[in-house]
Amino acid sequence: MNIINGKEISQKIRLELKEKVALLSKQKGRIPGLATILVGEDPASKVYIGSKIKACQEIGMKSFHHGLPVNSTQEEIISLIKKLNEDENVCGILLQLPLPNGQNPDKCIETISPSKDVDGLHPYNAGMLTLVKSWKEIVDKKMLVSCTPMGIIYLLKYSGIDIKGKNAVVIGRSNLVGKPISMLMLANDATVTMAHSKTGNLKQITKQADIVIAAIGKAKFLTKDFIKDGATVIDVGINRVDKKLYGDVDFEDVKDMNINITPVPGGVGPMTITMLLNNAVLAFERQ
Ligand code: NAP
Repeated sequence: MNIINGKEISQKIRLELKEKVALLSKQKGRIPGLATILVGEDPASKVYIGSKIKACQEIGMKSFHHGLPVNSTQEEIISLIKKLNEDENVCGILLQLPLPNGQNPDKCIETISPSKDVDGLHPYNAGMLTLVKSWKEIVDKKMLVSCTPMGIIYLLKYSGIDIKGKNAVVIGRSNLVGKPISMLMLANDATVTMAHSKTGNLKQITKQADIVIAAIGKAKFLTKDFIKDGATVIDVGINRVDKKLYGDVDFEDVKDMNINITPVPGGVGPMTITMLLNNAVLAFERQ
């Protein structure tokens, strides 16, 4: 088994981003700034947003944090986003999800200017991803793409794993992970199969795959009988069981196989914030 070390790759990319931020700041005469919005006091969301702010400062970017009370209305959140859209010091806007009290975030996300949408969730950016013809186009246009899927592509590329012409099976069809990673794999010339909870014969399908991407949200779901020898397995799942983190892959069961695999934790996870930083830098370059 060959471990794809997301922590190491992530650190490498963050160093590259730090250099880029220094260079761009000099060229443009201003420092890129990321605005973060947290509605309410959810402890997990506070930890997530805290790590994002810290990561942003570590690569030399400015951060502007806006904490809104838990009972904020959609109009209040939208009004703040509109202000940040106009603010020249802000190159990217991050609205921490989920919103409290089961509030639907769609209208808020749609208000974020597509050019400042560092989470890549705005319908314009999500839609553009379905229209691209190649990875080169994504890079050349500095497109803002959902962070976790983008992190997976960087993991594969930095690990020297070929995507072109490979059979890739993505398990999961969420707007956050499954759909965008399928589009990105397609843009990288993989032959992509998208599987989900209604897929029949899942094992037979994944057994054919050179690359399996599991974004299901079910601890230890994929065992060795799902995976072919020599495959690459990207485990996106984060499942908390008895205070321990597990991926969607049964790591113990597959550990003696001849495969490349991302561990949980330490695989896909660290790449997500790194890609948020990458998106913020791309947004700054474009503006
Ligand atoms: P989601 O919206 O709940 O989607 C889960 C997908 O898995 C759905 O498309 C569902 O199919 C499919 N699925 C469920 N049971 C299945 C089964 N038995 N066989 C085949 N497919 C099945 O979740 P998500 O937001 O995409 O996240 C997936 C996992 O990734 C979660 O564990 C999440 O915590 C983790 N995650 C990690 C990161 C990171 O930074 N590492 C970021 C985002 C998410 P249907 O569509 O048919 O229901």
